[in-house]
Amino acid sequence: MTRWDEQTDLLVFGAGAGGMTAALVGKLEGLDVLLCEKTEAAGGITASSAGSAWIPGTSQSRLAGVPDTVEQGRAYLDSVIGTRGGDAAREVFLRTGPAVIDDLEARSAVKFAAATAHPDYLGNHPGAAFGGRALVPLAFDGRLLGPDFKRVLPPWREFMVLGGMMVTRADIPALLAPLQSLANLRRVAALLGRHALDRLRHRRGTNLVMGNALVGRLLYSLREAGVPIRFGTRLVELVGDAGRIAGAVVDGPGGRRTIRAERGVVLATGGLARDPALRATLFPEAARSLSLAPESHTGDAVNAALAQGGMLDDAMESPGLWMPCSVLMRQDGTQSVWPHIILDRAKPGLIAVNAAGRRFCNEADSYHDVCMAMLRADAVSPAIPAHLIVDRRFIADYGLGLVHPGTRNLSRFIRTGYLIEAPDLRTLAVRIGADPDGLEATVTAHNAAARTGVDHAFGRGESDLNRINGDPANKPNPCLRPIGPGPFYAVAVRPADLASSAGLAGDGDGRVLDAAGTPIPGLYACGNDLASIFRGTYPGPGTTIGPALVFGWRAARHAAGLADDPVPARQEEHA
Ligand SMILES: Cc1cc2nc3c(=O)[nH]c(=O)nc-3n(C[C@H](O)[C@H](O)[C@H](O)COP(=O)(O)OP(=O)(O)OC[C@H]3O[C@@H](n4cnc5c(N)ncnc54)[C@H](O)[C@@H]3O)c2cc1C
Repeated sequence: MTRWDEQTDLLVFGAGAGGMTAALVGKLEGLDVLLCEKTEAAGGITASSAGSAWIPGTSQSRLAGVPDTVEQGRAYLDSVIGTRGGDAAREVFLRTGPAVIDDLEARSAVKFAAATAHPDYLGNHPGAAFGGRALVPLAFDGRLLGPDFKRVLPPWREFMVLGGMMVTRADIPALLAPLQSLANLRRVAALLGRHALDRLRHRRGTNLVMGNALVGRLLYSLREAGVPIRFGTRLVELVGDAGRIAGAVVDGPGGRRTIRAERGVVLATGGLARDPALRATLFPEAARSLSLAPESHTGDAVNAALAQGGMLDDAMESPGLWMPCSVLMRQDGTQSVWPHIILDRAKPGLIAVNAAGRRFCNEADSYHDVCMAMLRADAVSPAIPAHLIVDRRFIADYGLGLVHPGTRNLSRFIRTGYLIEAPDLRTLAVRIGADPDGLEATVTAHNAAARTGVDHAFGRGESDLNRINGDPANKPNPCLRPIGPGPFYAVAVRPADLASSAGLAGDGDGRVLDAAGTPIPGLYACGNDLASIFRGTYPGPGTTIGPALVFGWRAARHAAGLADDPVPARQEEHA
């Protein structure tokens, strides 16, 4: 018999997008909830993310004037995912998603707006959307959290400017050219004024945007609802009793304790990316050297569930979702890993090449698709690292990775080896370990294509996604411009996981399944602890946070005995 130190109804592990949603909804549905977080702050990787949630057919899309439907979303997913499985849970996601967002908006401070121009990543599939499907968290005033503001994990320092100010993509043009227009000047003055005030009292800016806004909003809602959060407290193991998960052993400031969970345990610890054994088993070797996952994602929950008969689901197109990343060695010996998400790859005048000096993909495609192409290419001829190749003018106009646009003095980046510089292409090829003839021929072919505006090799600039991340002022193709004259620059990129897509097998209520496909009573998972319903494909912006919110919500409602209850009225009209 287990001796329990304490008891609750719903015990949730991990204060990221998934876990905070599950804890909040459990409480809103009348359960006693305890949320345990391994670190001293809430947020996990959600805190450094863009915070977008990909959910088709929401009322937010209609409100934004870009109406989307569940049917369109279903057609798109059917085409992208094909026969890779997960159909039942995916259908639940589609049917419930809009209601989940409406419900969170109605009963908490969690609020989103649909982005009007944020294309799906695979625009050549039927049902792909240009806008309306990616929901972006509304900015949040961190001051509302009072002393709890320090419990919101800051985003990575590379994602902030001026010692802690968060900016959105929409702020960047104004910050780069404040004197270009009155509107720019006003925007910059407002940002800087607020930040200056913030810094009088806080260690960083309090105007939270993107993933940090989502974390701030969830934390605020949890506090308002009265959910206790135990920081510095990690899941050690699950406790089974009479065929169900009855609770867990946790380790925290007071030492080890056993906590009984009358209605269930929700696992939301961010996935398995930092578990060395699972990483080695699941991830391709070429994608193992870098990870964007926080150090805390050591797979504790996945391992605890496996020990209780849970099943790992890795029958995916890819076990992880990737971003091409460059690495700068800091002076203190630590690494700064920069994901090339949207700011440079699609801009005109950049190509990615392998060791033969040849292009292998459309560099302006989604970060995940570029990495998938890199992995495929590498299996044939060395392409990891790949190198992004640009000229001096490109860096001035758009920046490159950690080098901000307009940076005049590149010596720090060259000295640390982050940027490789050469007066001509042949020398650059030698310096990056590529074939000089190959690189020269590739740039010549690229430049000819840039003059016509048509990239016959890879179709750069043909999709909405490409064009929206290109430079609209560049004609005829916003993603193509001749490279040269020298000097030329290269930066090395490798795939790094932004999330694991392999995870615990689950059903449409986030119930963890055993090897026979039967739910283990009392055990739920959401976020990256749960295998991706998109089966290792990357449909669009918000691919992991959308399902994290939906299955966090559904798991909590199932634990509260509400799984079969009609979901709030507004869902019906989307079904
Ligand atoms: C730069 C970047 C941008 C991104 N942008 C987006 C985006 O816009 N949209 C999108 O959908 N995805 C995005 N992603 C991916 C996304 O951020 C994650 O997949 C998602 O936030 C994961 O949510 P989660 O709740 O599963 O995990 P997390 O947010 O990481 O939370 C897990 C928490 O569990 C805690 N934990 C770990 N072990 C234990 C334990 N044993 N006990 C208790 N707690 C534990 C961790 O400390 C952490 O706080 C992005 C990723 C990156 C790197």
